This record gives sequence, C-alpha cells and structure tokens, in this order.
Amino acid sequence: MSGAVAATAAAVLDGCDERPVLRQRGQREVFCGLTGIIWLHRKIQDAFFLVVGSRTCAHLIQSAAGVMIFAEPRFATAIIDERDLAGLADANDELDAVVTQLLERRPDIRLLFLVGSCPSEVIKLDLSRAAIRLGQRFSPDVRVLNYSGSGIETTFTQGEDACLASLVPVLPVSDDSQLLVVGALADVVEDQFARIFTAMGLRNVRFLPPRQAAELPPVGKGTRYLLAQPFLADTARALEARGATRIAAPFPLGVEGTTLWLQAAAAAFGVDSASFRAATELPQERGKRAVGNQRPLLAGKRMFFFPDSQLEIPLARFVSRELGMEVIEAGTPFLHKQHTAEELALLPKSVLVSEGQDVERQLDRCRAAKPDLVVCGLGLANPLEAEGLTTKWSIELLFTPVQGYDQAGDLAELFARPLVRRMRLAV
Ligand code: SF4
Repeated sequence: MSGAVAATAAAVLDGCDERPVLRQRGQREVFCGLTGIIWLHRKIQDAFFLVVGSRTCAHLIQSAAGVMIFAEPRFATAIIDERDLAGLADANDELDAVVTQLLERRPDIRLLFLVGSCPSEVIKLDLSRAAIRLGQRFSPDVRVLNYSGSGIETTFTQGEDACLASLVPVLPVSDDSQLLVVGALADVVEDQFARIFTAMGLRNVRFLPPRQAAELPPVGKGTRYLLAQPFLADTARALEARGATRIAAPFPLGVEGTTLWLQAAAAAFGVDSASFRAATELPQERGKRAVGNQRPLLAGKRMFFFPDSQLEIPLARFVSRELGMEVIEAGTPFLHKQHTAEELALLPKSVLVSEGQDVERQLDRCRAAKPDLVVCGLGLANPLEAEGLTTKWSIELLFTPVQGYDQAGDLAELFARPLVRRMRLAV
C-alpha cells in the first residue's frame, strides 16, 4: 500500500538559492521504502531481503514485484501477527527460526537484510539487536544487517537510502584515491559508466551497492564519491563520516546531465579535456540523436510532477532543457539543497518547485493547469486518467534503466509513450 500520512496542513513559500520553493506539510500519497527492495534485490545478487512486517507489507511487495518473473525470489515477508509485549520473546524466537530455515534452504545468500516496517508489533521488535544476534550466529558465511522501510519513516526511494546507509559501517577501510559511484544503477548502465571512466583513464572506480556481497568497496579519506541518485542523504552523511568527500554534480539523466556528471568526476581526478572528449564524444552524439527523435512529439507539451521518487527535479531539468517541454510544477517529497544545487541552477525559473505534499491542494493545482502529462504514483494515476489527464507512473523510472547516454532516448520515450497511447485512443 502507499503510505498516506496525515500531518498538520501547512504551506510555506521558502527561498532556496533565490528560487521560491512551495513547502507543503499535509496528507501525502507516496509508496513506503519497502518498494526499493524490488530493484535492490536484483542489484546485489547474493543478498536476501526479509521484510519483518504484516500481510499488507507482503501484498505490497508481491504486487510491486508481480510484473516481473523470478526464478528464485530473493525477498520475502516474515509476518508478525498482533501480539502483546509478553509475546516479544516468542517473536524473536520465531524470527530466528525463520532466518535459520531460510539460510539452510538458500546457501547462496551472503548478505541478509532484516527490513523493518510500520506495524506496531514490528516497531516493538529490536531489529538491530536481532541483526547482531543473527550475524554472530551465521558469521562468516552470512552478514546480517537491518534497516527500516516503514512508511512512517521512509517514502519510496528512501528505502534504498536506508539500505545503502546500513552498508556503510561495514565497508572496508582504505585511504587510497578512488572514485566511488553511489546509488543502485542497472548493470547495463553501470557497465557503460565503467567503460567511460576507464576510457578517461580513471583506474580506481568502485560502485555502491556492489553486485556481490564480497565486493563491498572500501572507503576512507582518499574516496571521492559521486551520487548517481538524488535520494541518498543518509548514505552520503555516513560516507562523509568515514572520510569520503562528495563531488558536486547534477544527476546522470539525459545527455546534458550525464555529461556534467562525468565532467565533475573528470575534473575531480584531473582528467584532461582531450581524454574526456575522446571518452564521451561518440556516446554523447548517439544520445543526442536518440533524444532528438522524441523531441518533435514532446516539445511544447506541459508537464506536472507529483512528489514520489525524488527524481522529479533532475527529470524536470531534462524534459525542459533537452525536450523543450514546459514543466508547470516539479514536486518532490524532499529537497536536499546541497545535493540538488546544480540541478536547481539549471532548471528554468518558470518551474514551480514544491517540497512535501498536501495532496488535495496539489490535485487542485494540477486540474487547474490541465497539463498534457502528469508524472505521479500509482495511487493517483488511475483517478487522474479517469478525469481525462494523461499519466506516467513514476515507479517505472526506478524499474527501467534510464541513466547515461545510451538510455537518454529511452527516458524521453517513457514520457512520449503515454501521449502516443492517448492520441491513438482519441482516433
Ligand atoms: S511498511 Fe507500512 S506503509 Fe509499507 S506496506 Fe508495510 S504497513 Fe504499508
């Protein structure tokens, strides 16, 4: 289910680098952080995500994952039924028994995440102690960590942030000079970036999360990290506490974003401009051509982003600057001023940036603006379609490889597709 949290309704216009930001604190319609398991379990290939939750959590995971086919799923829900505090000892015993059974059945698992959720019975359980207890028992074969995907504490993509932040304390130590790319990227995208970094002459490039638990990248004073995703505030803080330094950059969405992102890394490691050009020229041209193919359909179309994935600001920058679309509002659940500073500087001043949500008011703004395309969560998409608006599910932007030069055309096409469908239906 999507976490719908009612808070005191409030709207504040606040300044952010001279740009007014509409801050709203009302009812919000977003997924909870459990959703991240769907792309994270595909990324870390020997990890297992055990949600400690309710039947609702199990349904969320199953329905979000239902569109995919798995040989052997690497996530499950241990359902904790209602019980009083006196039953907590049993709950811990049950959890231990479930984990033991799981690890006996699946000897391929090297990293086990216990993922917390909202139900009060789960909140009463101390999952960090459970992770330590189980970690001691199954070490060195299996590392056990925990984080929360609860809808009370996290929205949608914050689940990935919580997961990666839980990995940072167990990363090995090294003060060697290295580039660390942080944020789950589809393997195909990661491989493309790795090739470009190699072509630039960068030798020590690592990725977090890794594909295998045994490949955890080291971190230390020589680590300069580049965020591949805009929703990793806690992970960034944890890396900095271990001595790493952030390379400020926009995010690698679209040709321009990808170029600036790669350029920031190149500048940080002293790559000369000829080497940079040689490594990026061809893919840049390919990306521009692919984006250009979608532009005639999209240029001039008006777009509205509801807050969901935290990708909204970079996406608004991409569609405005590379596709010629007019963004009316770019809503984001959270606006991290430092991490999005380079994005906000590129975003046209006409775009209303909003942070948080007061869903009824935002729906009113959207209806009044009559946009050609609305990017929103699943919960809002069907009602808006029924009202005659054309929508794109923001969750698809997380499930589809969209970063990098060779995906820029696909990213543009994701926005073109619902418009094409609507035109066909109208014929
Ligand atoms: S963690 Fe909370 S919001 Fe998410 S599915 Fe479970 S009960 Fe719902």
